[in-house]
Amino acid sequence: MHLTMPRAPQPARGLSQTSARRAIDHAAERQTLGDLHDAYQWAVYAHTLAHRSNHPAERLDATAMLAPLAALTGHADQAVTAYRGLVDLATAELGASHERTLYARAGMAEAHHRVGRCEKAIRDLADVYTTAAERHGPEAPVSLKTLTQLACLYRDCGWHDVAHRCLAAATTIAARYLRKGDPIRARVTNIAQTPAGENHRAVCTQATPSWPAPSGLSTARTT
Ligand SMILES: [Zn+2]
Repeated sequence: MHLTMPRAPQPARGLSQTSARRAIDHAAERQTLGDLHDAYQWAVYAHTLAHRSNHPAERLDATAMLAPLAALTGHADQAVTAYRGLVDLATAELGASHERTLYARAGMAEAHHRVGRCEKAIRDLADVYTTAAERHGPEAPVSLKTLTQLACLYRDCGWHDVAHRCLAAATTIAARYLRKGDPIRARVTNIAQTPAGENHRAVCTQATPSWPAPSGLSTARTT
């Protein structure tokens, strides 16, 4: 992997004196400040440091920092690779149904979708949603976020009917279980009012709507 060193501030005098954790914190600070490219550079550096250490938590956090930043800064193939690593790390450390593992799988599905692997992305994300709803309940943040994310993938592929069904289910769940003003409820509403992204058309490989709705679109807990 090509290592791009952070630009500024420079890490302190060599790899051994700058911990992976410190680099992770720098990446997070830059992201908070809105400097995504600088944050990405720090995340690459943190990821390299963390994988030289024997600290699984640092490897997990560094990879969790790198994967979305790679996607946000246009490093699409690296994002897929980083998310794949993140899924493996999270599964090993936290278990297959932990929320962070499910978010990692959702991120990987989005990364695949971003490079035109639409069929795989939608199947994987539908499976993540089903697992999240069964394990954590349909009203859990990870379930609602995954379901709205799934709607966005369907919508960007031009499958508006299925996207609408997913969003309608998410809206019903959010209204039933979450108070007014809850940020996730607001997020569902915002996504429902947002048109399909134009950028996906250039890479989309699913021109013909043919997907069944994912199983598990229940709007109430089954337990
Ligand atoms: Zn597509």
